Amino acid sequence: CKLHKILETLSQGSIPSENDIGFLLNCKEDELQPLFLLAREVQHSVYGRDVYIRGLIEFTNYCKNDCYYCGIRRGNRHAERYRLTKEDILDCCEEGYRLGFRTFVLQGGEDPFWTDALLTGLISAIKNRFPDCAVTLSVGEKSRESYRAYYAAGADRFLLRHETANGAHYRQLHPPELSGEQRKQCLFTLKEIGFQVGCGMMIGSPGQTAAHIREDLLFMKELEPHMIGIGPFIPHQETPFAHQPPGTLSQTLALLSVLRILFPHILLPATTALATICDGGRERGILAGANVVMPNLSPLSVRKKYLLYDHKAGTGAEAAEGLRELKKRMSAIGYQIVVSRGDYKAASAL
Ligand code: SAM
Repeated sequence: CKLHKILETLSQGSIPSENDIGFLLNCKEDELQPLFLLAREVQHSVYGRDVYIRGLIEFTNYCKNDCYYCGIRRGNRHAERYRLTKEDILDCCEEGYRLGFRTFVLQGGEDPFWTDALLTGLISAIKNRFPDCAVTLSVGEKSRESYRAYYAAGADRFLLRHETANGAHYRQLHPPELSGEQRKQCLFTLKEIGFQVGCGMMIGSPGQTAAHIREDLLFMKELEPHMIGIGPFIPHQETPFAHQPPGTLSQTLALLSVLRILFPHILLPATTALATICDGGRERGILAGANVVMPNLSPLSVRKKYLLYDHKAGTGAEAAEGLRELKKRMSAIGYQIVVSRGDYKAASAL
């Protein structure tokens, strides 16, 4: 049948046709079980049943950009803005370290307050205090010199979703001053400098087609990233996309599996957005091939303010202090959370 032909294509490392991607996007979760099974086989052969955790610190929600989908866009006058201080952030890391985190992800809007000098000072302070930990940055598009400075200060990884590889679709999602080509170039630059890099996109973003997703896969084959972050698009009421439909669980799960099979070594998070659209979304993500979860380490007082989309999950197993529950949930599906930096396993290292 059609699904088995697609599995064959994927197993050979080939990118499915637009038609086949469309087929997968239209399947119900039940129908996708053979795809999930194959993705799990690949996942187990590289990472076993280990799930890596990252402590996510959302350190600023100020942003100079005005992306049409994002709740912390500059144009959202109702967003309550905040910035954590260096001391706040080090406290988050301290608490995270105690809980067992060995990777800290510093994510924020593109906030001009955080100059390169401040950011490098922060990175080296974290690396000095926690030398056995990895620091991941997710702070958007910067110059090559800035990226070099962050790397020299000790940052290990960088997450920068490319959002969509298709130029026309990129312009549908962003104002004219932002360029998809520039964003993609940033990823190549980051890789060249030596970062482990992560790209990715939302699933079901307004205007996204199967052809666009195929272009995303082709772009990823060219970039060869170490991490890929995908999650459903979820509308935010104070954005131009307030009334657009969200991406679905089954579409996101299908693509997680496709990515695991095409990129066996990839670090692949089951994202907060996935946990937001469905209770148990994280577990379903792991069972579709994801191997990373990123609980929130931000102080409770600011967590409700980093709202990229409506009803964002931020408590229970989603939050860092809910790690025990997360461990339980993972062991209930046969996986274990490990205390380690959780670096990319290159094929040659296996
Ligand atoms: N400013 C940094 C950047 O540009 O990469 C990091 C922060 S940005 C808010 C992180 C990611 O959130 C984006 O790459 C985007 O894919 C995702 N995001 C934003 N709004 C979203 C929405 N409404 N639904 C789902 N994901 C969203």
